[in-house]
Amino acid sequence: MDNKIKYCPYCGEKILKEAKKCRHCGEWLTEETKKAAEIKKREQEQASFEKWKEEHSEKQKKNNASDILISILMYAIFWGGIALIVHGTVPSDTRMERAIIKDMQECVRDKTTSYTSLLLGDEAAEIASLFFDSSISDGSIFEQFKKNNSITIESKWLWSVGKIHNRNTVDEGTVVCFGFLGIVIPFVEWEDFILKDEKKTN
Ligand SMILES: [Zn+2]
Repeated sequence: MDNKIKYCPYCGEKILKEAKKCRHCGEWLTEETKKAAEIKKREQEQASFEKWKEEHSEKQKKNNASDILISILMYAIFWGGIALIVHGTVPSDTRMERAIIKDMQECVRDKTTSYTSLLLGDEAAEIASLFFDSSISDGSIFEQFKKNNSITIESKWLWSVGKIHNRNTVDEGTVVCFGFLGIVIPFVEWEDFILKDEKKTN
């Protein structure tokens, strides 16, 4: 066998001893060239993978953006709907006012009952003078209330607030009622309104 000839380990064809690549099958024959070829191949694969990844992430970003947009839209529609429903359930001013007056009258009757049971004391005497000379009817309590207090209802988009104003709480008033989701909750306290006329106290 010629000194300059060897056989390709891949295809068995005769090739030059110093050949780095088989001219028959195209295989690399030395370790260095083989490795270099592998590295180059891997680099190419890596590059094409990077390119694919980049394109893919661009698409993904677009998808994410539209997903977020849809989520925001759904969120807005959902809460908008809820707000509309709640808005429709805000109690009317008339209902609020009636609840406040009724609560105030109950407050007066409770107070009067507790004072008459005590039968003694300056405050009892004062209250008694207010109510016992006339009959304690809801009408007379309301008449007395109207002379010294006014009611305002602040109807908001989602709820309603009722206030009592009198000479002590002129502009700001005292919050005595809350309306929300079709429910009216009055919480009038004895201290929130005045029944005695100004003339009598001065
Ligand atoms: Zn070969």
